[in-house]
Amino acid sequence: METIPYSKQSVDADDIQSIVDTLGSAFLTQGPMVAKFETAFADYCGSRFAVAVSSGTAALTIANQAAGLIPGRQVLTTPNTFVATANSIELSGGIAKLVDIDSNDFNISITSIKMALDECKEVQGIIPVHFAGVPADMESIARFATDYDLFVIEDACHALGGTWIDSKGVENRIGDCAYSDMTIFSFHPVKQITTGEGGMITTNDPALHQKMLALRSHGISWPADPKLRKAQPWVYEMHDLSCNYRITDIQCALGLSQLRKADAWMKRRSELVARYDAGFENNGFIHPQFHPTSGSVSYHLYSAQAKDRDDLYRYLHEHKILVQVHYIPVHFHPYYQGRGYEVGDFPVCENFYRHAISLPLFPDLSDEQQDLVIALINEFYNGR
Ligand SMILES: *Cc1c(COP(=O)(O)O)cnc(C)c1O
Repeated sequence: METIPYSKQSVDADDIQSIVDTLGSAFLTQGPMVAKFETAFADYCGSRFAVAVSSGTAALTIANQAAGLIPGRQVLTTPNTFVATANSIELSGGIAKLVDIDSNDFNISITSIKMALDECKEVQGIIPVHFAGVPADMESIARFATDYDLFVIEDACHALGGTWIDSKGVENRIGDCAYSDMTIFSFHPVKQITTGEGGMITTNDPALHQKMLALRSHGISWPADPKLRKAQPWVYEMHDLSCNYRITDIQCALGLSQLRKADAWMKRRSELVARYDAGFENNGFIHPQFHPTSGSVSYHLYSAQAKDRDDLYRYLHEHKILVQVHYIPVHFHPYYQGRGYEVGDFPVCENFYRHAISLPLFPDLSDEQQDLVIALINEFYNGR
């Protein structure tokens, strides 16, 4: 029997040709493909600017630094995410202040944010994660940002291409930054589009855009004075301490080619999501992925809540269905326990984790493969 992963990239002949063409061009990095990819990406999301970087983690780290995170200050985020979200805060000298998730949509809880803000005056920002692709409550988060003077960075690694409808009836595209300062994306192969490794930050703020361009490459920029630039054209200035977070032209060529297919892939993922929901209609042991009632969600995961999750995981792996668990709560990791967190701190997130299972979801998953997964799961619960 063939192995079915939980996620997998799609790479076609056009993608490969775009890489080959760039390999033979004058620039392998810091060339024209980077700006081309950024422009196309900003257009796609509806933001003014986009900055392409080497990973989603680099995108998060640069975003925190561009937002002016002051060492020792706190940034609120969810424990139901990949560790990179919280790590980016700590790597930038801040403190990752975790708050529990909402029991309905499994995103950061608005009530818990309010409690954390009232209890501590050291909070400087919020990083919501659109878990599985389901948008967090950005309107409430933006209101906190105004009332408490906070920056907001959306971690949209799961949500490229999705939309949601606000209380004014306006449809917002994830990444348009209508309710945040910046939005970050990852192009790891399991995500909606890939560049091998890669990431992007979108923003509408010209100052943040300029700052991030410098932070991408060692904090280096060119002198503001045009006379100096003319007299000494070799002079560059390093204002802020940073790393090499650059992405190559080869990767950006692939990203540009992948982006053209993002809408079609999003549609296929939604079809598969609906087929899973239908497949588990008469199965009382598995609760399907949560769905918002408006907007079009771009699903990265089909994240179900399963009875006897550990047994189901083992059973499916024995049948070569490589389901995954998203996520081990951030505060379960030894590093964060060393930062003062304990098991039991976030009961909603922990209960979610104990039942969480991510079923195979990617554009090239065939109906037949999916039917096999559904049949195996229904068979597993038969008689339980
Ligand atoms: C994938 C992911 C990241 C990290 O992205 P990389 O490109 O792997 O560095 C951060 N946050 C979330 C929610 C992710 O899913």
